[in-house]
Amino acid sequence: MSSEVAARRDAKKLVRSSSGLRMVPEHRAFGSPFGLEEPQWVPDKECPRCMQCDTKFDFLTRKHHCRRCGRCFCDKCCSQKVPLRRMCFVDPVRQCAECALVSHKEAEFYDKQLKVLLSGATFLVTFGNSEKSETMVCRLSNNQRYLLLDGDSHYEIEIAHISTVQVLTEGFPPGGGNARATGMSLQYTTPGADGVTQLKLTAGEDANASRRQSTAWLAAMHKGPRHCLHHGLLASSRTLTANYTS
Ligand SMILES: [Zn+2]
Ligand SMILES: [Zn+2]
Repeated sequence: MSSEVAARRDAKKLVRSSSGLRMVPEHRAFGSPFGLEEPQWVPDKECPRCMQCDTKFDFLTRKHHCRRCGRCFCDKCCSQKVPLRRMCFVDPVRQCAECALVSHKEAEFYDKQLKVLLSGATFLVTFGNSEKSETMVCRLSNNQRYLLLDGDSHYEIEIAHISTVQVLTEGFPPGGGNARATGMSLQYTTPGADGVTQLKLTAGEDANASRRQSTAWLAAMHKGPRHCLHHGLLASSRTLTANYTS
């Protein structure tokens, strides 16, 4: 893809909503597959009491809306300000206890695993049942929409078109312990083409830094879907759990 197209895909603009400042993609079509829409706020007249502790709202007990679920709470039940990058908020926003818990977990993904996915790692890549494999750098695109594979050839796979993700492991130590991730098998559909394409990524055999990077990338790919994808990969994250003990 040309750098101009890439820049267009990654362009962002600042918008102000009732909940706070948001940095959103310039083009809606290029939004992150991890993204969430802002909820409709429960109208004031429909909530005379805190939806958690049932305290009646009045002049002294003011109501606050949770930015994640849109429900109404008193200050005590909705006091935490937590980052909510899935809704593109620039600053931490007010959330109820239930939502804050989820958002804290997601924040960990954004702070750690997402960086690993964006920086990429080297894998031996095999398409379908082909005997041939190619060494390629695999990374998530800046706008999080594509899996980019770069070697002698270049491939872009839209994250939303991935139907199955399975982490391949080796070693099940007796008495427990973690299996080691050695690769990943993906199935995805291509618009306009029938059926699914299978793709296998295998971490290199060398025991150096690049191998560690590949293992970290696989672990991040395993963790990301569980926390952040609400369609597509979410269904297959169960497969992941069954095949990869973290
Ligand atoms: Zn309350
Ligand atoms: Zn909430």
